[in-house]
Amino acid sequence: MSYLVKNYNRKNLSFTKGAGSFLYSTNGTKYLDFVQGIAVNSLGHAHPELVKTINKQAKKLWHISNAFQIPEGEELAKKLVKKTFADYVMFQNSGTEATEAAIKIARRYFYSIKKPYKNRIICIKNSFHGRTLASIYASGSKKMTEGFGPKVNGFDHFKFGDHKKLKKLINKKTAAIMVETIMGEGGIKVIPNWCLNGLRQLCNKKKILLILDEVQCGVGRTGNFFAFEESKVKPDIVPIAKGIGGGFPIGAVLMNKKVASAMVAGTHGSTFGGNPLAMKIGKSVLDIISNKDFLKKVKKNSQYFHFELNRIKDQFPKIIKEIRGKGFLIGIQLHEDQSRFIKSLMTNKLLTIKASENVVRILPPLNVKRNEINLALKIIKKVCVSYNR
Ligand SMILES: *Cc1c(COP(=O)(O)O)cnc(C)c1O
Repeated sequence: MSYLVKNYNRKNLSFTKGAGSFLYSTNGTKYLDFVQGIAVNSLGHAHPELVKTINKQAKKLWHISNAFQIPEGEELAKKLVKKTFADYVMFQNSGTEATEAAIKIARRYFYSIKKPYKNRIICIKNSFHGRTLASIYASGSKKMTEGFGPKVNGFDHFKFGDHKKLKKLINKKTAAIMVETIMGEGGIKVIPNWCLNGLRQLCNKKKILLILDEVQCGVGRTGNFFAFEESKVKPDIVPIAKGIGGGFPIGAVLMNKKVASAMVAGTHGSTFGGNPLAMKIGKSVLDIISNKDFLKKVKKNSQYFHFELNRIKDQFPKIIKEIRGKGFLIGIQLHEDQSRFIKSLMTNKLLTIKASENVVRILPPLNVKRNEINLALKIIKKVCVSYNR
């Protein structure tokens, strides 16, 4: 008998410990974990450096309140600002809190410049920005919003790639465009660099804000610190979460000076957000990930992974339709429903997870080793060979 609410479709599998890229199940089976808590454990399970940090800080100070100065948070914010487009950072505890805060910041900015009527945000239909009320209505997904009315107003939607519709949606009430740089849950769909540039230009022309949701694709996942980095685009607001805590719940909103000026004392807050324990862990993760050589290796290893996956695709064109994504945010799109494929991979001790559009999502830790990638490739190929359509 389980006393947990049945709001998840859980696999019948549990674990006792993890180490790097591997998980050990309750019955002693070793799995190659290419889910990593859905792009959360960016450095794998129980990374020695993070274990050290958490132990050291646990003996000193866990939590105080944002009523006081938090030097550990100052330090992490400074590091994030030095590395990125941002001038300021606001800490939260999760992705949806970060996107929700991004929405609030956009609205509050226009309120602060005496244009309170500019409060609508344009998003991509069937995107994913989290599970709080505003976030589900931002996502524009029927499945996620069903039964949770009344509707949270203020979001308009266009289909991925429908530039005409996007332009038509912008009016004097529009405050911002908010999109995932790479749609994660939506099927690992990458917004190309020329498109990101187009979005920035459009936002400049219409004097509205650009919010890039990097909760899944950010923090080194693509081989750059942000997925939008190669486009050279400067967004106004960027929510991050998943990867930054390496498994510890941390969310953050990065923003420029212009919008930060609207967030005066009392406009937003969080009891847990930015506590010393979380901040120390975030700093340790960032110290490792933001290293140039580390990111270079992510690029190199992920390029190898993509190349080899494409070779498998070419061998099995009737099973695999497309290899999607960037860096270690990878989607294998199948021609048909992917559940059976994922189950087969699991039987062969490789853990992966679903995304929309028949996609098998593959999210190795960023420090995955070449021989672990090879092991995954071997299993994927084996499943293809034995897969009867
Ligand atoms: C996971 C995710 C969220 C929500 O994060 P939670 O920590 O689950 O609240 C928001 N946006 C994107 C793009 C995500 O992938």
